[in-house]
Amino acid sequence: MRRADGYYAQFCLDQERIENRKPTGKTIGLDVGLTHFYTDSNGETVENPRHLRKSEKALKRLNRRLSRTQKGSNNRTKARNRLSRKHLKVSRQRKDFAVKLARCVVQSNDLVAYEDLQVRNMVKNRCLAKSISDAAWTQFRQWVEYFGKVFGVITVAVPPHHTSQNCSSCGKVVKKSLSQRTHRCFHCSYVQDRDWNAARNILELGLRTVGHTGTNASGDIDLCLGGEIPLDKSSRGKRKPKKRFLESPVF
Ligand SMILES: [Zn+2]
Repeated sequence: MRRADGYYAQFCLDQERIENRKPTGKTIGLDVGLTHFYTDSNGETVENPRHLRKSEKALKRLNRRLSRTQKGSNNRTKARNRLSRKHLKVSRQRKDFAVKLARCVVQSNDLVAYEDLQVRNMVKNRCLAKSISDAAWTQFRQWVEYFGKVFGVITVAVPPHHTSQNCSSCGKVVKKSLSQRTHRCFHCSYVQDRDWNAARNILELGLRTVGHTGTNASGDIDLCLGGEIPLDKSSRGKRKPKKRFLESPVF
């Protein structure tokens, strides 16, 4: 495989990666935001990685430089090289951030719930800053799902509707505009940070979804149950399981 800074060989290991982990008794809901990378249902926030913000400026600069060079010139080749090396660096930084954070979230919880955001909606957004954080989020989600399988942790993508409008305390609808950063419920007088309230709703939806999988498994909801993967030899012989490989997301 050729990348901007050299050639790479890729190896695939056809081995199921399963790791043991003691249950923590904790569950978590994650709300993606513009101000933070996410806010969780415990009120903790994770910031957007600063190196990605910096890289985004550098990318813009390199793009401008490339457009100023003449076609077919040596300078153009150099500028194009510089730009693609920067792109590669950014994608590695993003992956590093996603892997570490996803692993940490999955290992410290028994269930992770997040919104099932459509990539479609995100692509519409032309703003570079937004698209970089969207890419980081999409990748983070893929790693959460991957580690969910590895560690036997339930990961649930819930429909993103009304998660910010509903009250996470009484469940009633409290309409608010995007600029309203605080949720104030006039039914039960619950006051909470907007994103924190949304994260609590997301967790609640996730828990409800999992409670219903026995009778009503929905195709829309991406649900990974760690227990699906046969672990011992006796069950393997009887059920003739399909060969399943856990593939890590590749970028
Ligand atoms: Zn309320």
